[in-house]
Amino acid sequence: MRKWNFSSGPAVLPEPVLARAQAAVWDLDGSGIGVLEHSHRGPELMAVLARTEALVREVANVPDDYDVLFLQGGGSSQFFMVPMSFLGGGTADYCATGVWSQKAIAEAGRFGTVHVACSSEADRFTSIPSPAQTTWSAAPAYAHFTSNNTIYGTQWREEPAVPPGVPLVCDASSDLFSKPIDIGRYALIYAGAQKNLGPAGVTLVIARKAFVARGRTDLPTMLQYRTHAAHQSMFNTPPTFGIYILGEVLAWLKAEGGLAAMAARNQAKAAVLYAALDESRQFRGVVRPDARSLMNVTFRASSGALDAAFVAEAEAAGFSGLAGHRSVGGMRASIYNAFPPAGVDALVGFMRDFEARHPAA
Ligand SMILES: *Cc1c(COP(=O)(O)O)cnc(C)c1O
Repeated sequence: MRKWNFSSGPAVLPEPVLARAQAAVWDLDGSGIGVLEHSHRGPELMAVLARTEALVREVANVPDDYDVLFLQGGGSSQFFMVPMSFLGGGTADYCATGVWSQKAIAEAGRFGTVHVACSSEADRFTSIPSPAQTTWSAAPAYAHFTSNNTIYGTQWREEPAVPPGVPLVCDASSDLFSKPIDIGRYALIYAGAQKNLGPAGVTLVIARKAFVARGRTDLPTMLQYRTHAAHQSMFNTPPTFGIYILGEVLAWLKAEGGLAAMAARNQAKAAVLYAALDESRQFRGVVRPDARSLMNVTFRASSGALDAAFVAEAEAAGFSGLAGHRSVGGMRASIYNAFPPAGVDALVGFMRDFEARHPAA
């Protein structure tokens, strides 16, 4: 029996996608060869790549002057690829809203100066900085933010208000395509697929062509965005299976009604869970209400011992992956696009049951 999977990533995938993938591993689109066994230069895999790119463009309304790239190396490689290409000894502005932003900042520091335009470190990353708490530098090469802070459970409600003309770069690894997005506001946006989009091993990058063209030309070929743009992500062997699954996830997302429908569904799921936390005397949400993530809901019981008891009892009852990140403890329920609403209802029922057995003092 399958469990309710609250893992932060790799994470739950839509069941219809898994069923189609099972069949495709044996025989892709009636070709007589499985998806894992096809040459990436053959017509079947080329068709997979083309339809996946087309779905990205359609689902997110990606403007024509943007490249859609399928890269490897995870979100973490984007932490250095971006500054390596675009910083060149200058200054870039970063919003420090958690562990992943800090990792991005550390990598950028190897290639130039980082100006931390805003930070929520003082409140242990339980908030999202307001415009009044943000100071941009005079003419940054770009400004970078992390749209959803997977570990802490905070999420930007809208993009930071960067000054006009400053290229906006975003790590959207844990919330890309969870709601409608105006790609035109971004110079470059990236996401490791394994949270909300597909399996580990493929990283989606969407970048304005004019921005890509500005990147340094003296880097190793594989580390230049233009290489992948010029070869439709086929300069070398791309992560074929990951691209296939990403395409299937997007086809599912489109059939479910697209990004607006996902946003409504994600709002509804998160509302059920946060309402349960707000009315509980045993559990409480960790972050400021105006910064709550719809993707990663962080919460605590009234003691560390009860946190541990809850995670253990939940696991035994079929609710998997609820332990908070090792750096913050407590609990975290990751409820990405593919996580079913029924699983949230079941978790809330289990929390009430737990609270009845362990009333708050
Ligand atoms: C998981 C995560 C990353 C790291 O992704 P990898 O693919 O493991 O390198 C980066 N940023 C955010 C926001 C994440 O959630």
